[in-house]
Amino acid sequence: MRIVMLGAPGAGKGTQAKKIAAKYQIPHISTGDIFRANIKNGTELGKKAKTYMDQGLLVPDELTCDLVVDRIGQPDAVNGYVLDGFPRTIPQAECLTQALAKLGSKIDYAIDVDVPDENIVNRMGGRRACVKCGATYHVVYAAPKQEGICDTCGEKLILRDDDKPETVQKRLDVYHAQTQPLIDYYSGQGVLKSVDGTKGLEEVFDQITAILEA
Ligand code: AMP
Repeated sequence: MRIVMLGAPGAGKGTQAKKIAAKYQIPHISTGDIFRANIKNGTELGKKAKTYMDQGLLVPDELTCDLVVDRIGQPDAVNGYVLDGFPRTIPQAECLTQALAKLGSKIDYAIDVDVPDENIVNRMGGRRACVKCGATYHVVYAAPKQEGICDTCGEKLILRDDDKPETVQKRLDVYHAQTQPLIDYYSGQGVLKSVDGTKGLEEVFDQITAILEA
């Protein structure tokens, strides 16, 4: 099962991607997580990516595509994966389609988690991330057991720089200009499925499992 998650930043696609990965025993591949791990480890890739991320801009395609093609070629991805945050541009989608075609495979589902912009702005301000393991929470919709502390590793939770209000609007603009066209791209491939992302976390997940098990 090869899945691409689509949707605006803050639509909840990361949370749903993790749930899909756990239920169907496939790796969750998040380019945002890969870049953040590189920033934390001080790699060259991390240094380059950070300058774009902090401004709410996309990391250039040439730094992104090979990284994902390499990752989906790893042994744990043979039975599928859920891609979260990739592709984010038409050239990235084309790069993925071509890499898969060489292996005789293709994306089975592109799941669009649909949430209007006005809901997004409200949601992002409440988002919190663990400085250590990257787990994400929301102060209202997915609160940690203890305020400000990660359930998994006990570390402090922070508001990521790219979730700050001034960056959120920029990220939404970038989403509409560069990422939303992927909805038509995957619709053209006959694999697009939309779910109503304004519903609660479990309800959205039920919509997704119904699609994957239809
Ligand atoms: P995310 O955690 O998916 O919201 O990603 C956080 C940030 O990482 C984005 O705002 C981009 O700056 C960068 N990023 C993640 N995935 C990609 C991608 N596929 N292409 C370009 N930039 C990306």
